[in-house]
Amino acid sequence: MSEKQCTTCGSSAYETRQITYLYSHQGKYLIVPNTPVEVCQHCGTVYYSAAVLKRIEQQFCDIHSDAMAPDDYLQVPMKAFG
Ligand SMILES: [Zn+2]
Repeated sequence: MSEKQCTTCGSSAYETRQITYLYSHQGKYLIVPNTPVEVCQHCGTVYYSAAVLKRIEQQFCDIHSDAMAPDDYLQVPMKAFG
């Protein structure tokens, strides 16, 4: 397998981090804590693996079709810029 290269800066130095991902689709949302991502150590560009995104999509569909219960609910404040 060839080494990955950052498409932004060309660096091949990555680190794995866990972030809180906000998935939204057609006005519905799912907040996904502990989402594993790879971050370019040089420029900070965040990369999501296809497998991770697929898993999040699946969880989103399951939760919004009541096939899976979420861990928790958040009330999120909203305010337009300005
Ligand atoms: Zn980079």
